[in-house]
Amino acid sequence: MNKPIDTQATQSVPLWIDGKHVVATSSRAGDITNPATGRVTKRVPFCNAADIDAAVQAAQRAFPAWRDAPPLRRARILMRFRELLDQNKDALAQLITAEHGKTLADAGGSVQRGIEVVEFAMGIPHLVKGEHSEEVGTGVDCHSLRQPLGVCAGITPFNFPVMVPLWMFPVALACGNTFVLKPSEKVPSASLRMAELLKEAGLPDGVFNVVHGDKEAVDALLNHRDIKAISFVGSTPIAKYIYETAARNGKRVQALGGAKNHAVVLPDMATNAHDLDFAADALIGAAYGSAGERCMAISAVVAVGAAADPLVAKLKDKASKLKIGPGDGKVDGQQPDMGPLVTRAHRDKVAGYVDKGVAEGAKLVLDGRGFKVTEYQDGHFLGASLFDHVKTDMTIYKDEIFGPVLVVLRTETLDDAIRMINANPYANGTAVFTRSGGAARKFEREIEVGMVGINVPIPVPIAFFSFGGWRNSMFGDQHVHGMEGVRFYTRGKVVTTRWPDANALPAGFNMPTLG
Ligand code: NAD
Repeated sequence: MNKPIDTQATQSVPLWIDGKHVVATSSRAGDITNPATGRVTKRVPFCNAADIDAAVQAAQRAFPAWRDAPPLRRARILMRFRELLDQNKDALAQLITAEHGKTLADAGGSVQRGIEVVEFAMGIPHLVKGEHSEEVGTGVDCHSLRQPLGVCAGITPFNFPVMVPLWMFPVALACGNTFVLKPSEKVPSASLRMAELLKEAGLPDGVFNVVHGDKEAVDALLNHRDIKAISFVGSTPIAKYIYETAARNGKRVQALGGAKNHAVVLPDMATNAHDLDFAADALIGAAYGSAGERCMAISAVVAVGAAADPLVAKLKDKASKLKIGPGDGKVDGQQPDMGPLVTRAHRDKVAGYVDKGVAEGAKLVLDGRGFKVTEYQDGHFLGASLFDHVKTDMTIYKDEIFGPVLVVLRTETLDDAIRMINANPYANGTAVFTRSGGAARKFEREIEVGMVGINVPIPVPIAFFSFGGWRNSMFGDQHVHGMEGVRFYTRGKVVTTRWPDANALPAGFNMPTLG
């Protein structure tokens, strides 16, 4: 039995079940570390199957009443939640920065993108409208409904502690489902704050629950009989495991995985200084923002023809001037461009990729290894690294590095660039930089990637479109939020109606034809 707790009296992050903080029954737990200082700040419990069951049961009990609440009532709760998120944006950004490390401005921007999904979900009365056709046969009408699934679960990664959960649960709840969220064990605090805000907005107890943990908790969700759908965002090997396991257990799944996002720069961008600066600035922000820990980060630049030499020179110049420091601090009186990486182990893994790139013969143009911030000696900092003359068989091209390392590959033509990108196992996002409408149109049509930017380096779709990649970047059929999100969290039903009248038909033994 889970016990309610006083959150002030302990540094252990609680669960949120049935509208209150509760303590896990599991004795396993992990550390939460501030990436800027390297210090452990809290502990997070690793739930066992009994903890997960308590949350699922609460969600299951809350489902019938929530399912039956009119969509407009659900929308009004989301409207109040949206206001509370807005009022608490700075506090949420601080929670994100304290556990993830990204800068406060970047964290605030990600909260704003999450709020936009809530704004989309507020339109639920319109979004779940069905269709109606009268007289599909003599005296026969037909209409369609979209109904909620039941208890849905979300399993999320460390890099967007607020935005990625908000890709999922506002749409799920708006559709009439109840929800169990398992945020990343590295960044669990913001999810709890959102649970509190949902309660303040008027959400009935049990409709939204938060559990914590690692594989044991995730497996308990994947194997729980009462969970109908799983939304996952994280690395590709785990996404594949989630997809296969949940599908085998008869659940609906959307599992978004890792990425290697290419930006193609065509030679016309190097013919004047303004365009070259425009492209280089876009790439620097997209590669090194959030220390490269974004699934839509540009991690590979494909420089076509004469664009390569001037572009690499610009990238080197700009990357070497990045301000790197604590996400909530200042560097030379200004907010940093880039904070630390999430854990020491991840920082060391990323630095190891730089070693590997050098060993495999790529040209290291800028070396971020060994970077230190004077007053934060134990922070997980790494400087920006830039490689040129990278080949497609090198590890730094093949692997998702998920850190501040940008690799430049060179091709002769746009066709070569398209072929290279289409051959990569990942296919989350991509971008092309050019002033040629014809080249951009060709790229848009021929590239086999889920999200495409034309002179936009991080083409994260706005909330009323859907987000998701192709190939190894996404397992499942429906992307998140937008109409695909609504379809994912509902199932369709079609009703055919006839009322008895004077022309009632005699018993029929053949396949009915209505026309
Ligand atoms: P991760 O795969 O390690 O963890 C994601 C979630 O899975 C976490 O909640 C974690 O607790 C859980 N998990 C970890 N190992 C597990 C296991 N063996 N079995 C079951 N569950 C497990 O990912 P991460 O390091 O937190 O996040 C970074 C990754 O997420 C990157 O690969 C990044 O590209 C990806 N990502 C993708 C998108 C997208 O939209 N495609 C968005 C954000 C992040």
